Amino acid sequence: MTNKIRLYFSSISENEAFARNALASFILPLNPTLSEVNDVKTAVSEAVTNAIVHGYPDSVGEVEIIAEIDGNDLHIEISDYGVGIDDLEKALEPFYSTRVESERSGMGFTIMKTFMDDVTVISKLNSGTKVKMSKKINLNSAR
Ligand code: ATP
Ligand code: MG
Repeated sequence: MTNKIRLYFSSISENEAFARNALASFILPLNPTLSEVNDVKTAVSEAVTNAIVHGYPDSVGEVEIIAEIDGNDLHIEISDYGVGIDDLEKALEPFYSTRVESERSGMGFTIMKTFMDDVTVISKLNSGTKVKMSKKINLNSAR
């Protein structure tokens, strides 16, 4: 089976739950395990929260998600067109956060890497950030 969706939404915190649940619904035809659904929801939640909180710190912008199912492979791209990341290598390190004064723990990217098979981040200052993630879903079923 191949299938593709594109979501476009405002960078407000209410939309984090919308995005997470939309992606959970999108992968249901693959008969994922509960654990796989939770992995995908958690990774999407972290990337979308980053887009909202860090991508657009002082404004409301647009967040785009493109998700694709190709056989057992799930590919997700989460993009913002906000401030971008200054030092990507540092940003990807566990416990690194530019928002230490708030409740941020600097674990978002580490969580995405833990729950997805593959995570790639592309970012450009004042242009935006794109997180590409993929994961094999329900490997044991033939389709
Ligand atoms: P946590 O996710 O644990 O609440 P955090 O968001 O600071 O904390 P990460 O998600 O790992 O931690 O992100 C690390 C850092 O990368 C952030 O503090 C921020 O500086 C930067 N960053 C992440 N995503 C974006 C983005 N979409 N736009 C701009 N900067 C980002
Ligand atoms: Mg984060």
